[in-house]
Amino acid sequence: MRVPLEKAVDLLRGGEVVAIPTETVYGLAAWLFKESAIEKIFTLKNRPSTNPLIIHVRDADECAFYASAQPADVYKLTEAFWPGPLTVVLPIHEKKVPLIARAGLKTAAFRCPAHPVAAELLKCVSPLVAPSANLSGTPSSTKPEHVEHDFGPQFPALEGECRHGLESTIIAQKNGLWEIARLGAISPEEIARIIGYLPKCAHLVEKTPICPGQLLVHYAPKARLILSNTPYEACEKKCPVVLGFTDRVYPGAKKWLFLGSLTAPHEVSFNLYDCLRRLDIEGIKEAWVDLDIPHNGIWATIRERLFRAAGATLTLQ
Ligand code: AMP
Ligand code: MG
Repeated sequence: MRVPLEKAVDLLRGGEVVAIPTETVYGLAAWLFKESAIEKIFTLKNRPSTNPLIIHVRDADECAFYASAQPADVYKLTEAFWPGPLTVVLPIHEKKVPLIARAGLKTAAFRCPAHPVAAELLKCVSPLVAPSANLSGTPSSTKPEHVEHDFGPQFPALEGECRHGLESTIIAQKNGLWEIARLGAISPEEIARIIGYLPKCAHLVEKTPICPGQLLVHYAPKARLILSNTPYEACEKKCPVVLGFTDRVYPGAKKWLFLGSLTAPHEVSFNLYDCLRRLDIEGIKEAWVDLDIPHNGIWATIRERLFRAAGATLTLQ
């Protein structure tokens, strides 16, 4: 159910959960000071309580109130990417951040969203925790229809469009260096331009995930995905349904779901979760996925999401 901003503010202040658009994906928002609402988020999503939430702030000053230290370069990073899809993990003043929001950790993840609706909302009620508005482990929501599909037509949602269609990039410090804890809408190359080195993608090389978004199967539809970097016509292991690109042909396929053009990665990221969701909505049991895509920029994130959606192992290239 679409609600206007004033209604969303009332609901959040009253301890309810509201779905909100951000420039990454839709979030399930609760006010940081309403612990019962935060509990509701975990129940609604069927999210393990060990998976901490991202705290959405209105600006860097609000973040500084909760953080107990600001590691080197954090200001440069927030100045470059906030408001926007970068999440920074920082040590916090433990009394200021409820345990439930940070899964008992001594750190918390912060982000300042750029979406005008989210920004307007945060002016009235902040900070907000807002994990992605989907059932844990399944494709994220990028449209209010997706939220209503997962949580029912009566679930309150603010109207909006998720420009990126991919989650935020999460960075954390380890031994004085920034590492990427989750690939996202900002590429490692863009971060390197600010900090002067390419941050390591911790989760792709470590065995134990440091954040549960790193669990192998995530963002996954029910449909089985066959990932391939061999052309469709030459591929032995294929099926009639193709998840592919508008600039390629897939001779012999019976049905196509197009992610977009290979010349427009932002179009592809924008459509990604909608396409994964459509597979299930249309009752498709199996799809062949064209994974002959670049490795750089946000293609790395798109590639990683497709690997996780398929439950496949990703190795660094
Ligand atoms: P989402 O549920 O899509 O909003 O994803 C939130 C992500 O932020 C999850 O992968 C969390 O594990 C991660 N996260 C939140 N807080 C922390 C933290 N303190 N340290 C590391 N990762 C965190
Ligand atoms: Mg999520």
